[in-house]
Amino acid sequence: MRLIQGAEEMRGLCRAAKARSGRLGFVPTMGALHAGHLSLVRAARAQSSVVAASIFVNPAQFGPREDYSRYPRNLESDCALFENEGVELVFAPEAGEMYREDSASWVLVEGLSERLCGRTRPGHFRGVATVVAKLFHIVEPDIAFFGQKDAAQVAIVRRMVRDLNFALAIVVCPIVREPDGLALSSRNAYLGPEERYSAPVLFRSLERVRRLFDGGERNSSELIRAAREEFLAEPAVRLDYLEVVDPDSLEPEPEIRKKALVAVAARIGSTRLIDNILLEP
Ligand code: AMP
Repeated sequence: MRLIQGAEEMRGLCRAAKARSGRLGFVPTMGALHAGHLSLVRAARAQSSVVAASIFVNPAQFGPREDYSRYPRNLESDCALFENEGVELVFAPEAGEMYREDSASWVLVEGLSERLCGRTRPGHFRGVATVVAKLFHIVEPDIAFFGQKDAAQVAIVRRMVRDLNFALAIVVCPIVREPDGLALSSRNAYLGPEERYSAPVLFRSLERVRRLFDGGERNSSELIRAAREEFLAEPAVRLDYLEVVDPDSLEPEPEIRKKALVAVAARIGSTRLIDNILLEP
């Protein structure tokens, strides 16, 4: 495994790896790796001949009052985990390598970027789309792997790849969860013991939606009302949004007639968590 900090060096090594081995799979991350990230690496290993990953806490996707400076950073142990999973190239640039002081170009996926987390985190998805586009230009992968955990990110990256003619395939991997249903997240490390105990309420609310849906309920307001009830038992958890939307456009769906995304975001203390499920009639 090689750890690379320079964008030009990374591009050269990726091109050489592709010429040598064939299909290059790419797993972008912000580090603080957990089993969710590693599931993407395993999928990449299975579907490509050489795997590159990135570790970059992207300042452009954090708001001024968000957790950029305290976001967990464990480069050494992350590299050991990647090495263990057979990642060949790890790109971990400094912020200054990715953004020059006079950087003036951004990628904005209009409309989608203002929905779900984009409403409470203005500029977040502009930062995500920009860094993903930059990483795609540096790594030039044949396939890139993303987690369903960040469902809005998936919709935005897919749309960007289509609209801007990126020559790569996107593969989306299922959400990896703790035994009590909590979706794995690097931010779970922020949770105190009581907060950790309350955190599975996001998953429980989604499970309730799924049960009602399986019983035939198709009205989104009814599903959302029932899901919100779960939060009444957890006053320390503040719901940010709980919505039923089209998974591609992220537009609200009043009735579920085709595949729908049920997405939830909530705050526990100063930690913001997200989760989602897909429903298909
Ligand atoms: P992050 O480091 O949080 O930016 O995540 C990097 C990638 O890992 C993204 O594509 C995430 O969607 C994915 N990911 C994060 N948590 C999970 C999880 N619990 N299960 C599956 N994929 C995940």
